[in-house]
Amino acid sequence: MATNERCLFCRIACGEITAKIVFEDDIVVAFNDINPQAPTHVLVVPRTHISTLDDLDEEEANVVGMTIVRASQIARNLQLNSEGYRLVVNHGEAAGQTVFHIHVHLLGGRNFGWPPG
Ligand code: 5GP
Ligand code: ZN
Repeated sequence: MATNERCLFCRIACGEITAKIVFEDDIVVAFNDINPQAPTHVLVVPRTHISTLDDLDEEEANVVGMTIVRASQIARNLQLNSEGYRLVVNHGEAAGQTVFHIHVHLLGGRNFGWPPG
């Protein structure tokens, strides 16, 4: 499995850096965001190092698909599914991507505006 030893999320995924893990399996690790933007703010991170959405190819379809599946399962386990929640993936500077290992933000526990800021 491709990892990058200088990448923050690879280091969290392998346990080298501590985070509050809420779920993990062989495909993803999910942990609380250090700077939460909602009452629930979980980052769902594939263990495979992929820097951005622009680096994806079709071979990663299963990894990315399972990342969304796991996000939806975590949301259900946290009982966010009936009231609603938001999944966000930022790409690049204009969207505010700061960690260059793809991840899905799972945000819940409050209302979200549309269009997003
Ligand atoms: P991005 O801006 O790349 O979409 O999201 C990166 C997220 O990672 C941000 O919401 C930020 O708060 C979070 N983050 C950055 N460093 C750490 C860390 O060391 N631990 C945890 N748990 N979250 C982090
Ligand atoms: Zn990484």
